[in-house]
Amino acid sequence: MTDTPAPPAPASGAPLRLFNSLTRQLEPFAPVHPGEARVYSCGPTVYNYQHIGNMRAYVFADTLGRTLSFKGYKLRHVINITDVGHLTSDADAGDDKMEKAATSLGKSAREIADFYTGEFKRDLQWLNVRDPAKWTVATEYVPQMIEFATAIADKHCYELDSGLYFDVSTVADYGRLARAVTDEGEGRIEEVTGKRHAADFAIWRKTPPGETRQMEWDSPWGMGAPGWHLECSVMGEEELGFPFDIHTGGIDHREIHHPNEIAQNQAYRDAGSLDCAEHSGARMWMHNNFLIDRGGKMSKSAGEFLRLQLLVDRGYHPLAYRLMCLQAHYRSELEFSWEGLGAAFTRLKRLNLAVKNAQVRMHVEAPESGLIANEQVVFDSEIQALLARFDDAMSNDLNTAAALVILEELLSRKKLDARQVVRAASMMNEVLGLELFEGSAQRTLRIRPKAATIMEEEIEAILLRRKEARAAKDFAASDKLRDELIAAGVEVMDGDPLGWDWRLEN
Ligand code: AMP
Ligand code: ZN
Repeated sequence: MTDTPAPPAPASGAPLRLFNSLTRQLEPFAPVHPGEARVYSCGPTVYNYQHIGNMRAYVFADTLGRTLSFKGYKLRHVINITDVGHLTSDADAGDDKMEKAATSLGKSAREIADFYTGEFKRDLQWLNVRDPAKWTVATEYVPQMIEFATAIADKHCYELDSGLYFDVSTVADYGRLARAVTDEGEGRIEEVTGKRHAADFAIWRKTPPGETRQMEWDSPWGMGAPGWHLECSVMGEEELGFPFDIHTGGIDHREIHHPNEIAQNQAYRDAGSLDCAEHSGARMWMHNNFLIDRGGKMSKSAGEFLRLQLLVDRGYHPLAYRLMCLQAHYRSELEFSWEGLGAAFTRLKRLNLAVKNAQVRMHVEAPESGLIANEQVVFDSEIQALLARFDDAMSNDLNTAAALVILEELLSRKKLDARQVVRAASMMNEVLGLELFEGSAQRTLRIRPKAATIMEEEIEAILLRRKEARAAKDFAASDKLRDELIAAGVEVMDGDPLGWDWRLEN
């Protein structure tokens, strides 16, 4: 496993405080292993594409990881790929999502998993989410899952015809994470005869007699497949060791999946009450809130849904979506709208231009000297103060919205030493992950909408002819050329302060 190396220490050492869902409090980050940060993020169930709401969870986990790196911790991040076990309802009901997709598409579960894992990883790259130190694929950990289940079976589980079930009354404080009432916990009534408590959940799901599943393994409880919650407990323990530092996921996981993981971890560790967070397997449990779409386009069962690809097809750079996420606090709901995405895109263009301008100033001020990556620069007090404010913002439970404003303030100060501005901005960019240093704004940010018919070269050629017509004061010809462009879906943006002469409408 390759860990993400720790970058140079941040400019100031504001204590990092994060919101722990388990205690519902902001807490100082105190690593289990000095100098290290071990983070496990619940990953996708790869039976379909991820929607942009899902992707918010990874932008959040990535921002957390980048912040931990910025604070000088050596990050060890694990994200899992769920390719077995996740049923159509989180509460253990329905079919396995993978098997169901495989059957309906006439493919093998492996083919489905490989395809959607690839699509997911491409989306992550588009969003500039850093690779974790390790991807854990659930089906590669089944022997360890059987071992884990065996270790807790006698004291904490009971067997029914349909599988091995975890008895939630055998651990202290079941459901504390969700603040749920244990016995009648909402949303988890499952029609399984013989279950002792409604909240009890499957550790192992037996293949019904006479049936064969695509994905099944032999176990002490017969042929079958692991329960979804089991896999994250096992992969977290195996790769990061209990207790590790932070476990992340979307807020829906706070209700069922993570309380169940916690119960298993408590059982495995033979641990007592959750007054001590470490008994849960991790010191902190962090959850991002949902991306909401009032148009109902976030549901994967309702035909076309909001995928990153759809945003790109409409001409939006994927990092505009990353920026949209960063503009909100990760614990707030974020409402999706195309207008909001458009505004975030404009802000991204503006940031790119501001960086480019600072780089130009740097070369004008000192034409001979480039800036070497990771070069230590001594900062003037004003820039130090901005870096300290940035550090404060990120250390305050990842206040990305405030951090963005500080980056903009830094870039807007024309009187500051440009070399230092560029260096400080690149440090901030490393934390925010906006790729602001990747080249000319237009070239990297222009995305051709799928529906566009006119080619970029043609647009440039018409604009050149229009410029010539205007120079010759032939305004009739110039207007005609403009109309031609408008008819082809091109917005002509004369004098655009961001330097975009034209834009293809989406
Ligand atoms: P899944 O593939 O269903 O296991 O979900 C992957 C991740 O996305 C999990 O961490 C979920 O909690 C998270 N998630 C699901 N829906 C949303 C949403 N609308 N907004 C933000 N996160 C979500
Ligand atoms: Zn999980």
